[in-house]
Amino acid sequence: MRSVVALLFLCGALATRSNGQIANGPGWNPPTPPGATAVSPSDDRAPVPVPEPGEKAIRFYRSGNVLWCLRTLWEVAVPAAILFTGFSARIRDRAERIGRRWFFVVVIYLVTFMAVKYLLDWPLNCYQGFLRQHAYGLSRQSFGRWLGNSLKHLAVDTSGYVAFLWFPYLLMRKCPRRWWLHSWLAATAAALFVVLITPIWIDPWFNQFCPMKNKALEADILALAERAGIEGSRVFEVDQGADTKAVNAYVTGFMGTKRIVLWDTIIAKLNRRELLTVMGHEMGHYVLGHVAKGMLFGAALGFFGIYLFARLSGWLIDRFKGRFGFDSVSNIASFPLILLFVSAGNLALDPLILAFSRHLEHEADRFGLEITRDNRAAANAFVKLQSENLGVPRPGLMYTLCRATHPSPGGRIDFANTYRPWAKGEPLSYEHLFKAARSDKVATP
Ligand SMILES: [Zn+2]
Repeated sequence: MRSVVALLFLCGALATRSNGQIANGPGWNPPTPPGATAVSPSDDRAPVPVPEPGEKAIRFYRSGNVLWCLRTLWEVAVPAAILFTGFSARIRDRAERIGRRWFFVVVIYLVTFMAVKYLLDWPLNCYQGFLRQHAYGLSRQSFGRWLGNSLKHLAVDTSGYVAFLWFPYLLMRKCPRRWWLHSWLAATAAALFVVLITPIWIDPWFNQFCPMKNKALEADILALAERAGIEGSRVFEVDQGADTKAVNAYVTGFMGTKRIVLWDTIIAKLNRRELLTVMGHEMGHYVLGHVAKGMLFGAALGFFGIYLFARLSGWLIDRFKGRFGFDSVSNIASFPLILLFVSAGNLALDPLILAFSRHLEHEADRFGLEITRDNRAAANAFVKLQSENLGVPRPGLMYTLCRATHPSPGGRIDFANTYRPWAKGEPLSYEHLFKAARSDKVATP
Protein backbone atom coordinates (compact mmCIF):
# COMPACT_ATOMS: atom_id res chain seq x y z
CA MET A 1 0.00 0.00 0.00
CA ARG A 2 2.54 2.40 1.09
CA SER A 3 4.69 1.61 -1.81
CA VAL A 4 1.81 2.27 -4.13
CA VAL A 5 1.25 5.62 -2.62
CA ALA A 6 4.90 6.45 -2.67
CA LEU A 7 5.23 5.48 -6.28
CA LEU A 8 2.04 7.08 -7.40
CA PHE A 9 3.17 10.23 -5.67
CA LEU A 10 6.56 10.17 -7.27
CA CYS A 11 5.12 9.41 -10.69
CA GLY A 12 2.43 11.98 -10.14
CA ALA A 13 4.96 14.56 -9.14
CA LEU A 14 6.96 13.88 -12.23
CA ALA A 15 4.01 13.62 -14.52
CA THR A 16 2.68 16.99 -13.47
CA ARG A 17 6.05 18.59 -13.60
CA SER A 18 7.42 17.35 -16.86
CA ASN A 19 4.01 16.99 -18.28
CA GLY A 20 4.99 19.26 -21.03
CA GLN A 21 3.62 22.28 -19.37
CA ILE A 22 4.94 25.31 -20.93
CA ALA A 23 4.63 27.23 -17.70
CA ASN A 24 7.38 29.63 -18.48
CA GLY A 25 6.50 29.20 -22.04
CA PRO A 26 8.31 28.13 -25.11
CA GLY A 27 7.14 29.40 -28.32
CA TRP A 28 7.85 29.44 -31.93
CA ASN A 29 6.30 30.31 -35.18
CA PRO A 30 4.87 28.83 -38.30
CA PRO A 31 6.68 26.01 -39.95
CA THR A 32 9.46 27.15 -42.23
CA PRO A 33 10.15 24.84 -45.12
CA PRO A 34 13.33 22.93 -44.45
CA GLY A 35 16.13 24.21 -46.56
CA ALA A 36 14.24 27.33 -47.52
CA THR A 37 15.26 30.69 -46.22
CA ALA A 38 12.61 32.09 -43.99
CA VAL A 39 11.01 35.17 -45.40
CA SER A 40 11.06 37.34 -42.34
CA PRO A 41 11.05 40.99 -41.59
CA SER A 42 14.54 42.43 -41.46
CA ASP A 43 14.46 42.88 -37.68
CA ASP A 44 13.63 39.22 -37.13
CA ARG A 45 17.20 38.42 -36.20
CA ALA A 46 17.53 41.15 -33.61
CA PRO A 47 17.62 39.55 -30.14
CA VAL A 48 14.56 40.01 -27.97
CA PRO A 49 15.62 41.69 -24.69
CA VAL A 50 14.89 39.88 -21.43
CA PRO A 51 12.37 42.11 -19.63
CA GLU A 52 12.96 43.26 -16.07
CA PRO A 53 10.39 41.82 -13.66
CA GLY A 54 7.71 44.18 -12.37
CA GLU A 55 7.29 45.01 -8.70
CA LYS A 56 4.28 42.67 -8.49
CA ALA A 57 6.23 39.76 -10.04
CA ILE A 58 9.03 40.24 -7.50
CA ARG A 59 6.55 40.24 -4.63
CA PHE A 60 4.87 37.13 -6.07
CA TYR A 61 8.25 35.40 -6.33
CA ARG A 62 9.37 36.28 -2.79
CA SER A 63 6.08 35.48 -1.10
CA GLY A 64 5.97 32.27 -3.17
CA ASN A 65 9.29 31.20 -1.67
CA VAL A 66 8.02 31.81 1.85
CA LEU A 67 4.85 29.90 1.04
CA TRP A 68 6.89 27.04 -0.39
CA CYS A 69 8.83 26.73 2.90
CA LEU A 70 5.59 26.80 4.87
CA ARG A 71 3.96 24.18 2.62
CA THR A 72 7.00 21.91 2.81
CA LEU A 73 7.01 22.06 6.62
CA TRP A 74 3.25 21.51 6.70
CA GLU A 75 3.39 18.40 4.51
CA VAL A 76 5.81 16.84 7.00
CA ALA A 77 4.24 18.23 10.19
CA VAL A 78 0.63 17.11 9.57
CA PRO A 79 1.24 13.38 9.00
CA ALA A 80 3.86 13.42 11.78
CA ALA A 81 1.39 14.96 14.24
CA ILE A 82 -1.39 12.53 13.26
CA LEU A 83 1.04 9.66 13.73
CA PHE A 84 2.88 10.63 16.91
CA THR A 85 -0.21 11.74 18.84
CA GLY A 86 -1.82 8.34 18.22
CA PHE A 87 -4.64 10.02 16.34
CA SER A 88 -4.14 7.67 13.39
CA ALA A 89 -4.63 4.69 15.73
CA ARG A 90 -7.83 6.26 17.03
CA ILE A 91 -9.16 6.65 13.47
CA ARG A 92 -8.33 2.97 12.94
CA ASP A 93 -10.11 1.93 16.16
CA ARG A 94 -13.24 3.71 15.01
CA ALA A 95 -12.95 2.13 11.55
CA GLU A 96 -12.64 -1.31 13.18
CA ARG A 97 -15.76 -0.74 15.27
CA ILE A 98 -17.80 0.25 12.22
CA GLY A 99 -16.24 -1.85 9.45
CA ARG A 100 -15.43 -5.11 11.28
CA ARG A 101 -14.06 -6.87 8.20
CA TRP A 102 -10.52 -6.02 7.09
CA PHE A 103 -11.38 -4.51 3.73
CA PHE A 104 -14.10 -2.26 5.14
CA VAL A 105 -11.81 -1.15 7.94
CA VAL A 106 -9.25 -0.07 5.33
CA VAL A 107 -11.90 1.82 3.33
CA ILE A 108 -13.41 3.57 6.37
CA TYR A 109 -9.97 4.48 7.70
CA LEU A 110 -8.92 6.02 4.37
CA VAL A 111 -12.15 7.99 3.92
CA THR A 112 -11.95 9.34 7.49
CA PHE A 113 -8.26 10.16 7.21
CA MET A 114 -8.71 12.01 3.93
CA ALA A 115 -11.61 14.05 5.36
CA VAL A 116 -9.52 15.01 8.42
CA LYS A 117 -6.52 15.94 6.29
CA TYR A 118 -8.72 17.96 3.93
CA LEU A 119 -10.02 20.04 6.85
CA LEU A 120 -6.53 20.56 8.30
CA ASP A 121 -5.12 21.57 4.90
CA TRP A 122 -8.09 23.76 4.01
CA PRO A 123 -6.87 27.16 5.30
CA LEU A 124 -3.51 26.84 3.56
CA ASN A 125 -5.09 25.53 0.34
CA CYS A 126 -7.68 28.30 0.36
CA TYR A 127 -5.02 30.95 0.81
CA GLN A 128 -2.67 29.51 -1.80
CA GLY A 129 -5.20 28.41 -4.38
CA PHE A 130 -7.84 31.12 -4.07
CA LEU A 131 -7.04 34.22 -1.97
CA ARG A 132 -3.46 34.63 -3.14
CA GLN A 133 -4.36 34.06 -6.80
CA HIS A 134 -6.96 36.84 -6.57
CA ALA A 135 -4.64 39.12 -4.61
CA TYR A 136 -2.16 38.98 -7.50
CA GLY A 137 -4.81 39.26 -10.19
CA LEU A 138 -4.10 35.78 -11.57
CA SER A 139 -7.53 34.27 -10.99
CA ARG A 140 -11.06 34.80 -12.25
CA GLN A 141 -12.49 31.89 -10.29
CA SER A 142 -15.51 32.37 -8.03
CA PHE A 143 -15.22 31.02 -4.49
CA GLY A 144 -18.00 28.52 -5.23
CA ARG A 145 -16.15 27.10 -8.19
CA TRP A 146 -12.88 26.93 -6.26
CA LEU A 147 -14.60 25.12 -3.40
CA GLY A 148 -16.40 22.76 -5.80
CA ASN A 149 -13.13 21.89 -7.52
CA SER A 150 -11.35 21.33 -4.22
CA LEU A 151 -14.12 18.93 -3.12
CA LYS A 152 -13.90 17.14 -6.47
CA HIS A 153 -10.15 16.74 -5.95
CA LEU A 154 -10.84 15.30 -2.51
CA ALA A 155 -13.27 12.81 -4.06
CA VAL A 156 -10.81 11.82 -6.80
CA ASP A 157 -7.91 11.43 -4.35
CA THR A 158 -9.95 9.45 -1.83
CA SER A 159 -11.34 7.15 -4.52
CA GLY A 160 -7.81 6.67 -5.84
CA TYR A 161 -6.48 5.69 -2.42
CA VAL A 162 -9.41 3.36 -1.78
CA ALA A 163 -9.04 1.77 -5.22
CA PHE A 164 -5.27 1.24 -5.06
CA LEU A 165 -4.06 1.18 -1.45
CA TRP A 166 -5.79 -1.94 -0.15
CA PHE A 167 -3.58 -4.11 -2.37
CA PRO A 168 -0.15 -3.22 -0.91
CA TYR A 169 -1.64 -3.48 2.59
CA LEU A 170 -2.85 -6.96 1.72
CA LEU A 171 0.62 -7.81 0.38
CA MET A 172 2.23 -6.57 3.61
CA ARG A 173 0.11 -9.09 5.51
CA LYS A 174 0.51 -11.98 3.08
CA CYS A 175 4.19 -11.66 2.22
CA PRO A 176 5.96 -9.49 4.78
CA ARG A 177 9.40 -10.01 3.25
CA ARG A 178 8.73 -9.24 -0.42
CA TRP A 179 5.68 -7.01 -0.24
CA TRP A 180 7.68 -3.97 -1.33
CA LEU A 181 8.75 -5.55 -4.61
CA HIS A 182 5.27 -6.78 -5.54
CA SER A 183 3.81 -3.47 -4.45
CA TRP A 184 6.28 -1.61 -6.63
CA LEU A 185 5.22 -3.67 -9.65
CA ALA A 186 1.55 -3.08 -8.85
CA ALA A 187 2.15 0.63 -8.27
CA THR A 188 3.92 0.98 -11.59
CA ALA A 189 0.97 -0.63 -13.36
CA ALA A 190 -1.44 1.56 -11.37
CA ALA A 191 0.50 4.73 -12.23
CA LEU A 192 0.40 3.82 -15.93
CA PHE A 193 -3.34 3.26 -15.64
CA VAL A 194 -3.87 6.60 -13.91
CA VAL A 195 -1.88 8.52 -16.53
CA LEU A 196 -3.83 6.68 -19.24
CA ILE A 197 -7.29 7.51 -17.88
CA THR A 198 -6.65 11.02 -16.52
CA PRO A 199 -7.26 12.90 -19.81
CA ILE A 200 -10.50 11.06 -20.60
CA TRP A 201 -12.08 10.26 -17.22
CA ILE A 202 -10.71 12.75 -14.70
CA ASP A 203 -9.76 16.01 -16.44
CA PRO A 204 -13.21 16.45 -18.11
CA TRP A 205 -14.72 16.49 -14.62
CA PHE A 206 -12.98 19.80 -13.96
CA ASN A 207 -12.94 21.50 -17.37
CA GLN A 208 -14.38 21.24 -20.83
CA PHE A 209 -12.08 19.90 -23.53
CA CYS A 210 -12.96 20.39 -27.17
CA PRO A 211 -11.38 20.73 -30.61
CA MET A 212 -9.87 24.15 -31.28
CA LYS A 213 -12.39 26.89 -31.97
CA ASN A 214 -10.18 29.08 -34.18
CA LYS A 215 -10.20 26.97 -37.33
CA ALA A 216 -7.55 29.00 -39.20
CA LEU A 217 -5.18 28.60 -36.27
CA GLU A 218 -6.10 24.95 -35.99
CA ALA A 219 -5.15 24.44 -39.65
CA ASP A 220 -1.70 25.95 -38.98
CA ILE A 221 -1.25 23.78 -35.91
CA LEU A 222 -2.35 20.66 -37.77
CA ALA A 223 0.17 21.41 -40.55
CA LEU A 224 2.87 21.68 -37.92
CA ALA A 225 1.63 18.55 -36.14
CA GLU A 226 1.79 16.66 -39.40
CA ARG A 227 5.38 17.74 -39.82
CA ALA A 228 6.13 16.51 -36.31
CA GLY A 229 4.40 13.21 -37.13
CA ILE A 230 1.46 13.78 -34.74
CA GLU A 231 -2.16 13.06 -35.62
CA GLY A 232 -4.10 16.31 -35.66
CA SER A 233 -6.95 14.88 -33.60
CA ARG A 234 -4.60 14.98 -30.64
CA VAL A 235 -4.82 18.75 -30.16
CA PHE A 236 -7.44 20.05 -27.69
CA GLU A 237 -8.52 23.41 -26.33
CA VAL A 238 -9.61 23.67 -22.69
CA ASP A 239 -11.75 26.39 -21.13
CA GLN A 240 -9.55 27.91 -18.43
CA GLY A 241 -10.62 31.49 -19.04
CA ALA A 242 -13.33 31.29 -16.36
CA ASP A 243 -10.78 30.16 -13.77
CA THR A 244 -7.47 31.85 -14.41
CA LYS A 245 -5.65 34.61 -16.22
CA ALA A 246 -2.45 32.57 -16.37
CA VAL A 247 -1.44 30.98 -19.67
CA ASN A 248 -0.32 27.43 -20.33
CA ALA A 249 -0.25 24.44 -22.64
CA TYR A 250 0.72 20.85 -21.86
CA VAL A 251 1.05 17.29 -23.08
CA THR A 252 -0.80 14.61 -21.15
CA GLY A 253 -1.92 10.99 -21.38
CA PHE A 254 -0.29 7.83 -22.54
CA MET A 255 -0.63 5.69 -25.66
CA GLY A 256 -4.24 6.05 -26.88
CA THR A 257 -4.99 9.04 -24.64
CA LYS A 258 -1.82 11.04 -25.39
CA ARG A 259 -2.71 14.60 -26.38
CA ILE A 260 -1.66 18.24 -26.50
CA VAL A 261 -3.89 20.65 -24.59
CA LEU A 262 -3.95 24.43 -25.04
CA TRP A 263 -5.55 26.69 -22.46
CA ASP A 264 -7.92 29.13 -24.13
CA THR A 265 -6.09 31.91 -22.24
CA ILE A 266 -2.87 31.24 -24.15
CA ILE A 267 -4.75 31.31 -27.45
CA ALA A 268 -6.10 34.74 -26.49
CA LYS A 269 -2.77 36.22 -25.34
CA LEU A 270 -0.28 35.01 -27.94
CA ASN A 271 -0.25 35.86 -31.63
CA ARG A 272 -0.25 33.16 -34.24
CA ARG A 273 3.52 32.88 -34.67
CA GLU A 274 4.09 32.85 -30.92
CA LEU A 275 1.44 30.24 -30.39
CA LEU A 276 2.96 28.04 -33.06
CA THR A 277 6.33 28.16 -31.28
CA VAL A 278 4.55 27.08 -28.08
CA MET A 279 2.98 24.23 -30.02
CA GLY A 280 6.42 23.27 -31.36
CA HIS A 281 7.63 22.97 -27.76
CA GLU A 282 4.61 20.84 -26.78
CA MET A 283 5.05 18.67 -29.86
CA GLY A 284 8.63 18.17 -28.71
CA HIS A 285 7.34 16.71 -25.44
CA TYR A 286 4.94 14.55 -27.40
CA VAL A 287 7.34 13.23 -30.05
CA LEU A 288 10.25 12.77 -27.64
CA GLY A 289 8.03 10.73 -25.28
CA HIS A 290 8.61 12.94 -22.26
CA VAL A 291 5.58 11.75 -20.30
CA ALA A 292 6.80 8.14 -20.65
CA LYS A 293 10.37 9.18 -19.74
CA GLY A 294 9.03 10.97 -16.65
CA MET A 295 7.12 7.83 -15.70
CA LEU A 296 10.22 5.66 -16.11
CA PHE A 297 12.26 8.06 -14.02
CA GLY A 298 9.51 8.09 -11.36
CA ALA A 299 9.33 4.28 -11.37
CA ALA A 300 13.10 4.01 -10.87
CA LEU A 301 13.01 6.46 -7.94
CA GLY A 302 9.91 4.69 -6.60
CA PHE A 303 11.74 1.36 -6.58
CA PHE A 304 14.45 2.68 -4.26
CA GLY A 305 11.91 4.67 -2.28
CA ILE A 306 9.74 1.65 -1.54
CA TYR A 307 12.72 -0.49 -0.67
CA LEU A 308 14.03 2.17 1.69
CA PHE A 309 10.60 2.55 3.26
CA ALA A 310 10.32 -1.22 3.81
CA ARG A 311 13.69 -1.19 5.59
CA LEU A 312 13.16 1.95 7.66
CA SER A 313 9.50 1.54 8.61
CA GLY A 314 10.13 -1.58 10.70
CA TRP A 315 12.83 0.18 12.69
CA LEU A 316 10.67 3.30 13.24
CA ILE A 317 7.64 1.28 14.27
CA ASP A 318 9.70 -0.80 16.71
CA ARG A 319 10.98 2.35 18.30
CA PHE A 320 7.74 4.34 18.45
CA LYS A 321 5.02 1.69 18.51
CA GLY A 322 3.85 2.91 21.91
CA ARG A 323 3.08 6.33 20.51
CA PHE A 324 1.89 5.16 17.09
CA GLY A 325 -0.57 2.63 18.48
CA PHE A 326 0.36 -0.12 16.03
CA ASP A 327 3.23 -2.58 15.80
CA SER A 328 3.30 -3.53 12.15
CA VAL A 329 3.48 -1.64 8.89
CA SER A 330 0.62 -3.82 7.60
CA ASN A 331 -1.73 -1.99 10.00
CA ILE A 332 -3.74 0.62 8.12
CA ALA A 333 -2.96 3.15 10.87
CA SER A 334 0.55 3.30 9.36
CA PHE A 335 -0.80 5.30 6.39
CA PRO A 336 0.48 8.70 7.70
CA LEU A 337 3.92 7.12 8.00
CA ILE A 338 3.82 6.51 4.24
CA LEU A 339 2.78 10.11 3.64
CA LEU A 340 5.54 11.33 5.92
CA PHE A 341 8.08 9.24 4.07
CA VAL A 342 6.82 10.48 0.68
CA SER A 343 7.00 14.14 1.80
CA ALA A 344 10.52 13.69 3.15
CA GLY A 345 11.53 11.77 0.02
CA ASN A 346 10.12 14.46 -2.27
CA LEU A 347 12.03 17.12 -0.40
CA ALA A 348 15.28 15.18 -0.60
CA LEU A 349 14.87 14.19 -4.24
CA ASP A 350 13.32 17.36 -5.64
CA PRO A 351 16.66 18.81 -6.80
CA LEU A 352 17.21 15.65 -8.86
CA ILE A 353 13.62 15.40 -10.11
CA LEU A 354 13.50 19.08 -11.04
CA ALA A 355 16.87 18.94 -12.82
CA PHE A 356 15.49 16.08 -14.91
CA SER A 357 12.33 18.09 -15.62
CA ARG A 358 14.36 21.15 -16.69
CA HIS A 359 16.40 18.94 -18.99
CA LEU A 360 13.23 17.68 -20.71
CA GLU A 361 11.90 21.24 -20.99
CA HIS A 362 15.12 22.45 -22.55
CA GLU A 363 15.02 19.65 -25.12
CA ALA A 364 11.39 20.52 -25.92
CA ASP A 365 12.50 24.13 -26.44
CA ARG A 366 15.19 22.90 -28.80
CA PHE A 367 12.67 20.75 -30.70
CA GLY A 368 10.28 23.72 -30.97
CA LEU A 369 12.99 26.00 -32.34
CA GLU A 370 14.21 23.42 -34.82
CA ILE A 371 10.81 22.62 -36.24
CA THR A 372 9.63 26.25 -36.47
CA ARG A 373 12.92 28.13 -36.87
CA ASP A 374 11.09 31.18 -35.60
CA ASN A 375 13.50 32.35 -32.93
CA ARG A 376 11.98 35.77 -32.56
CA ALA A 377 8.41 34.56 -32.06
CA ALA A 378 9.68 31.96 -29.58
CA ALA A 379 11.55 34.61 -27.58
CA ASN A 380 8.49 36.88 -27.66
CA ALA A 381 6.28 34.03 -26.48
CA PHE A 382 8.62 33.46 -23.50
CA VAL A 383 8.47 37.16 -22.70
CA LYS A 384 4.66 37.07 -22.68
CA LEU A 385 4.56 33.90 -20.62
CA GLN A 386 6.90 35.46 -18.09
CA SER A 387 4.76 38.56 -17.72
CA GLU A 388 1.33 36.87 -17.83
CA ASN A 389 2.34 34.28 -15.22
CA LEU A 390 4.17 36.81 -13.01
CA GLY A 391 7.51 35.07 -13.51
CA VAL A 392 10.90 36.55 -12.75
CA PRO A 393 13.49 36.16 -15.52
CA ARG A 394 16.40 34.92 -13.43
CA PRO A 395 15.35 33.34 -10.12
CA GLY A 396 17.89 32.51 -7.41
CA LEU A 397 19.79 29.28 -6.88
CA MET A 398 17.53 27.94 -4.13
CA TYR A 399 14.46 28.49 -6.30
CA THR A 400 16.14 26.72 -9.21
CA LEU A 401 17.21 23.76 -7.07
CA CYS A 402 13.99 23.29 -5.10
CA ARG A 403 11.16 24.68 -7.23
CA ALA A 404 12.00 25.27 -10.89
CA THR A 405 10.36 22.76 -13.23
CA HIS A 406 11.47 24.80 -16.25
CA PRO A 407 14.65 26.61 -17.23
CA SER A 408 14.44 30.27 -16.17
CA PRO A 409 12.45 32.56 -18.49
CA GLY A 410 15.61 34.63 -19.05
CA GLY A 411 17.58 31.51 -20.00
CA ARG A 412 14.87 30.43 -22.41
CA ILE A 413 14.74 33.86 -24.06
CA ASP A 414 18.54 33.80 -24.40
CA PHE A 415 18.37 30.32 -25.93
CA ALA A 416 15.62 31.33 -28.36
CA ASN A 417 17.67 34.38 -29.36
CA THR A 418 20.81 32.41 -30.13
CA TYR A 419 19.97 28.82 -31.12
CA ARG A 420 20.29 28.75 -34.91
CA PRO A 421 22.40 25.76 -35.98
CA TRP A 422 20.65 25.74 -39.37
CA ALA A 423 22.03 29.21 -40.11
CA LYS A 424 25.59 27.94 -39.64
CA GLY A 425 25.11 24.68 -41.52
CA GLU A 426 25.46 22.71 -38.28
CA PRO A 427 23.52 19.47 -37.71
CA LEU A 428 20.16 19.69 -35.92
CA SER A 429 19.31 17.39 -33.02
CA TYR A 430 15.78 16.46 -34.05
CA GLU A 431 15.44 17.20 -37.76
CA HIS A 432 15.53 13.47 -38.54
CA LEU A 433 12.18 13.19 -36.76
CA PHE A 434 10.44 15.75 -38.97
CA LYS A 435 8.32 14.68 -41.87
CA ALA A 436 8.86 16.43 -45.21
CA ALA A 437 7.03 19.74 -45.29
CA ARG A 438 4.20 20.00 -47.75
CA SER A 439 4.54 23.17 -49.74
CA ASP A 440 0.78 23.88 -49.76
CA LYS A 441 0.69 23.86 -45.99
CA VAL A 442 3.65 26.04 -45.29
CA ALA A 443 2.51 29.01 -43.35
CA THR A 444 4.14 32.36 -43.59
CA PRO A 445 4.26 34.79 -40.73
ZN1 LIG B 1 7.24 22.04 -21.58
